[in-house]
Amino acid sequence: MSGEIPVSGHCLCGAVGFTAAALSPDVTACHCTMCSRWGGGVALSIDIETAPVFTGEDNLGVYKSSDWGERGFCKLCGSSLYWRLSGTDRYTFSAGALDDTSHLRLTKEIFIDEKPGYYTFANDTVKQTGDEATAAFLAEAEHRT
Ligand SMILES: [Zn+2]
Ligand SMILES: [Zn+2]
Repeated sequence: MSGEIPVSGHCLCGAVGFTAAALSPDVTACHCTMCSRWGGGVALSIDIETAPVFTGEDNLGVYKSSDWGERGFCKLCGSSLYWRLSGTDRYTFSAGALDDTSHLRLTKEIFIDEKPGYYTFANDTVKQTGDEATAAFLAEAEHRT
């Protein structure tokens, strides 16, 4: 697995921009309560595992949201930009921040057990509970190191 799809994007006000290499055109929806509070609803993101390059990095805020994860946002406009496995180059970037989303496809939903009742996606996706998603993610991370 190597990131081969170049992507670029920026926050709502444009102060923070980024370029990176996506692993695939697959979008994951995270229904967890932390993502909902962070971005106002379900987080739709793409997987990246090489260090992204930022512009306007002075305006990039980082919030450590758990023992192993941190979230990047624009300090000026508040846009939610990424989740990162702390201390690694493993990121998930907000799909909505990308300049070109035409190639993306929603393939997976995680933390389905925390999904609020007021919406349900019609897409045919792989669904994982929080425990299943966390176990799969940690196994993948271990495999890589
Ligand atoms: Zn901004
Ligand atoms: Zn989440």
